[in-house]
Order: sequence, then structure tokens, then C-alpha cells
Amino acid sequence: MQVGIIGAGPAGMMAALTLIETNHEITLIDEQSMGGGQIYRHAAQMASQDARIFGSDYAAGGDLVRRFNTVADNERLTHIKGATVWSVTEDREIAWSVGEISYSRLFDAVILATGALERAMPIVGWTNPGVMTVGAAQILMKTARHVPAESVLIGSGPLLYLVATQMLEMGTPPKALLETQTISDYLYAFPHLRLNSTVIAYLLKGAGMLRKLSSAGIRRHTAVSDVSITSEAGQHRVAFSCGGKMHKITAGHVLVHAGVHPNIQFSQSLGLAHCWNEANHCLDPDIDAMGRSSKSGIYIAGDGAGILGADAAQLSGQLAAMAVLTDQGESVEASILAATLSKHRRFRSIRAFLDRLYKPKKWYSVPDDETIICRCEEVTASTVRNAVRLGCLGPNQLKAFSRCGMGNCQGRYCGMTVVNLIADTRGLSPAEIGYYRIRSPIKPITLEQIANHDTIN
Ligand SMILES: Cc1cc2nc3c(=O)[nH]c(=O)nc-3n(C[C@H](O)[C@H](O)[C@H](O)COP(=O)(O)OP(=O)(O)OC[C@H]3O[C@@H](n4cnc5c(N)ncnc54)[C@H](O)[C@@H]3O)c2cc1C
Repeated sequence: MQVGIIGAGPAGMMAALTLIETNHEITLIDEQSMGGGQIYRHAAQMASQDARIFGSDYAAGGDLVRRFNTVADNERLTHIKGATVWSVTEDREIAWSVGEISYSRLFDAVILATGALERAMPIVGWTNPGVMTVGAAQILMKTARHVPAESVLIGSGPLLYLVATQMLEMGTPPKALLETQTISDYLYAFPHLRLNSTVIAYLLKGAGMLRKLSSAGIRRHTAVSDVSITSEAGQHRVAFSCGGKMHKITAGHVLVHAGVHPNIQFSQSLGLAHCWNEANHCLDPDIDAMGRSSKSGIYIAGDGAGILGADAAQLSGQLAAMAVLTDQGESVEASILAATLSKHRRFRSIRAFLDRLYKPKKWYSVPDDETIICRCEEVTASTVRNAVRLGCLGPNQLKAFSRCGMGNCQGRYCGMTVVNLIADTRGLSPAEIGYYRIRSPIKPITLEQIANHDTIN
């Protein structure tokens, strides 16, 4: 059997490592030049001080990537690096491009392990040079050992604290954290806490990060809202409301983060079933406990199936691989399957708490008129509202009205904001609005790449 896996993060690597034990041929394709995905980016190349900076989880990821590298590129596992997948079809043909050439190949089973995307936080000034996402700053830190100086971090969620402590460890602490969660978010979140050892370990890790930030004297403002950024000559002025007053702070860089949601570009382009996740305010692919999607032979693993974090992503990679095997009539050790399912379920307990605590806020999910919401085509929120008043019913018609979602990112970053804005203007829920119809190529390709197409048998 030929299995195609897209994404070499913890989910994709674990799926490949599980399948390599069998006699099947596996092809794992990823855009990056090495395995690791978002969290374990460059982890195999880690220098000794990196474990202190990026934490023990990152160090453990280095072991996983090295284990993957030792089996990759033998005759049964091909790791195609630096390759952008731009199409996956219902009959399980994957198309990708590397350099000037594009390739396609048919597979018996396809595992989508394309991870998460940072939720867009469209506020006035978020597209200014020097303003980026917290995740983008972390990529800079992991790959180039460069920390944006004098940074103000805005938003909420675990990644905000993680990157702030990593900046601190690298000797360039952030200037301040402007956090959007309020006291009532804590009060509503606590009833969702179901304590088990996984949850306790997670909470202790979070408390440890907050302690480090506080001992270093880093200012944290909570219940922040109505943030706007003005930039001039490489300096930023961030205005925000907190405690009933407006405040201003200057910054060398501004890093925004409003949590993450599944990357659903492929699952949408394949027309797979999705369900509205009210807790994380996003669309999740509708899958069974082992990652089977609504179309036979297509499986989804990791954060692309629903946000549960890196450890859960590894387990879901294993589960998707086991689903592929059982669907081909092969036997899987029942006790291993039951234990993996049970461990994976434990990660759901912390998610319910985090989703409620860091629920996206309306003031940026449904931004003011002048805010740019589609960075590629520079479309503002007022253009979307006006289109709806002229009769535009949903995200697909909006493309014709405004080109919103038709730029380089193909709607990856503006998708959820567009859904929220149309829902709010029409007085409906986001679940009733639907999503962009995503078509391949889901990432830009050149005519040269199409002309140089090679079909692999
Ligand atoms: C920016 C960012 C930073 C994060 N940092 C941390 C962190 O420091 N600590 C932490 O605990 N969690 C972090 N997370 C969450 C963490 O990424 C996930 O929990 C975990 O990595 C999920 O693993 P995964 O295998 O599902 O996906 P990922 O690790 O995201 O791997 C997905 C892989 O798919 C590849 N891919 C996607 N689309 C394509 C395509 N079209 N063609 C080819 N390849 C493709 C990507 O290159 C990537 O390597 C971060 C998330 C984001 C978005």
C-alpha cells in the first residue's frame, strides 16, 4: 500500500514512524527543509543552551525528530522536503512543487497532518511593518536566533506566555504583555477544569511561566480592549483601553496572538464534513476518534483535526496510522489501540478550560470599519459590511464583490474574520454562514511549475 502524509510535525512524523513498522511504502511531504513542524522547528539541530531557552518539551521533540531522521529515506519512507503541496483530490492524488517542477502521485491512503494556523487579530495597524504574530517571532527565534527587541505582546493564550519567557531566556525580554482575557473569563473557565495528571502538569507549566515573567518585572495588563497601533520610523505607539481608561505605550516591535485554529484548507478543498466548534470559535473537520474523515481513505491527524497540542498530535498521528491499517484489513494490537485512545482523550480536559479562558473577543473578531481584514487584497471591514448590505450572503459571493480571500493566502488568514463579519452584519451565527469554497491550487504555483509537471507512478 502507498500512504501519502502531508506535514512533518509531531502528528505526521508519528504516523510515519507507526507505519514504518509495517510493509507499506510511505511518502511524507513538507514545506520545511527538515522535520519538526511548528513546535519542533530546528529541534534536531538544537545546541545545548536551546533546551534551557525553548524548554524541555522542545528538547524532547529533538529526540523525536532524530528518531524520524534515522528511518527517513530508506526504501520504505521517503521524506520530500521543501515541497509545497497545492492539491489533494478525492481519489487521493497529491500534487506538490519543489523548485521549478511540480509532481503528482496517487496514494491508497492520505493522512493530512498540516497543523494549526494562528488566528488573525485584525486591529488598526496590524499590517504595519514591524507588527507580526507571536508565532512568526518564535520562528525567527528558533531559526535565526533573533529576538525582536522592545516588543509589546498583545492577545491571549499559552503561546503568548511561552514566547515571552523564551524571549526572556534569550536575553531580550519583552517590554509588556497586553492580555485580553478578563476576570469573568477566569470565572466562566474554572468550571470546565477536570483535573488529571496531564491537566495538572499543564497548569504547573503555565504557573511557572507567569512566575518567571513576574520575577523579571515584565508588566502584564489584563482585560485590555480596543487596541490600535500607529507606526512611524520603526517605532510603534500602542493605544489600548484597560480599567476604564485609555493608555499608550511605545514599542520597538508589536507581536499579536489570538490563539490558533485548525488549518482546514485541504479538508475544505476536499469537501470533507466540518463542524462548528463554538468553544474555539472555528471550524473543525468532522472525524472519528482515530482520524477517519467523511471520505474513505482520507485521514486527519494533529492540530489540523482540532487543537489539542503537540503531545496529543503525536498520539493522533499514531491513531491515524492504525486507522489506515485496520481499514486495509490488517490487525492492530487491541491493547495498544485502547491505551492510545485513552491517553489522547485526556488532552480534551485542558482544552475546554483554555478555550473558555481565551475565547476570542468581539472587538477584534468583528473589527471596526477602517480595519484591514484581508491583507493580500487590502480589503477593509467596511467593504465587507457594505457588500452584505448590497445583498452579499456569504464568503463566496464576497470574492466577487471585493476579491477578499482571492490573494496569495487563498483565504487562510481572513477566512474566519470574514465569516464573523458577515454573521454579525446579517444577524446570524457564524455556523450558519459557511466558509469560502477552497479550490486548488491552495498555495501559489508558477506556470513554469505547471508546465514542468511530472506524474509519479
Ligand atoms: C506559529 C505557531 C507556533 C507554535 N509554537 C508552539 C510552541 O512553541 N509550543 C507548543 O507547545 N505549541 C506550539 N504551537 C502549537 C503546535 O504547533 C501544535 O500543537 C503542534 O505542532 C501540532 O502538531 P502537528 O503535527 O499537528 O502540526 P505542525 O507541527 O504544525 O506541522 C504541520 C506541518 O505541515 C506542513 N504543511 C502545512 N501545509 C503544507 C503544505 N501545503 N505543503 C507542505 N507542507 C505543509 C508544515 O510545514 C508543518 O511542518 C504553535 C503553533 C503555531 C501555529
